[in-house]
Amino acid sequence: MRDDICHPMDELEAGEVALELDDKEPQEVLAWALSRFGRRVGICSSFQAEGCVLIDMAWRLDPAIRVFTIDTGRLPQETYELIERIRARYGVEIEIFLPDSTALERMMRRHGPNLFYRDVNLRLLCCQIRKVLPLRRALRGYDAWITGLRREQWATRSNIRKVEIDHDHGGIVKISPLADWTEDEVWEYIRTYDVPYNALYDKGYKSIGCAPCTRALLPGEDARDGRWWWEVGAPKECGMHCAIETGGFEHELAALLSGHSENRLLAADEPSTEHP
Ligand code: SF4
Repeated sequence: MRDDICHPMDELEAGEVALELDDKEPQEVLAWALSRFGRRVGICSSFQAEGCVLIDMAWRLDPAIRVFTIDTGRLPQETYELIERIRARYGVEIEIFLPDSTALERMMRRHGPNLFYRDVNLRLLCCQIRKVLPLRRALRGYDAWITGLRREQWATRSNIRKVEIDHDHGGIVKISPLADWTEDEVWEYIRTYDVPYNALYDKGYKSIGCAPCTRALLPGEDARDGRWWWEVGAPKECGMHCAIETGGFEHELAALLSGHSENRLLAADEPSTEHP
């Protein structure tokens, strides 16, 4: 994190607010976020059940809520159909961020379109190009972002706070209003408010990402077992919510981005001072 720029919130305030909001309902956390950051906060959604709940809740508080998403280019058709339904239902503009086309072309020419099945480092490289770098670019337009992370989803998420400083993204604020919700609470909200959701849930999916890397669960499997199921002992994360460093893919990434404008994204992040 750089010291010469103004950060939207310091660690002390973030810690105090996190304590204050920890037992509050998601709507109260969202109301605080909207009041604190106004148009400088947005919901980052991959249109899983949690993201849809947050869009519905936030829209009821402020119909002009900003929503953004990363379109990796490999999403299931059902996710695109859901994006259309969300747009029609709420009338929100969804800010869609795409991977950098030059980096993508280089990666696919070098490693082919389905590189992720061959090696964990190639899978992380693909996630970096298609998800992590576009997310960094998207967040330059925000002082705070709202995520649908829940503590019970995965071991790496068990300690998340409802409000925290996001050191992976230049010290902006990361807000997770559903941190203490269960999966049952999410689906109860969806049923109560008739919130649109991804049709893949009705086909046995529990966690939905890119089409080639997500499948329906087999009996007895955990939610994240349907993601990158062919990998053994690798993190069930893509790097959007926690930095993943293996030493294996970073060198390849730097080579792919060498001399390219995206290369600057590998350096320290800095929050944008631009206002939309
Ligand atoms: S989930 Fe699969 S297709 Fe999507 S970015 Fe990661 S490796 Fe690439």
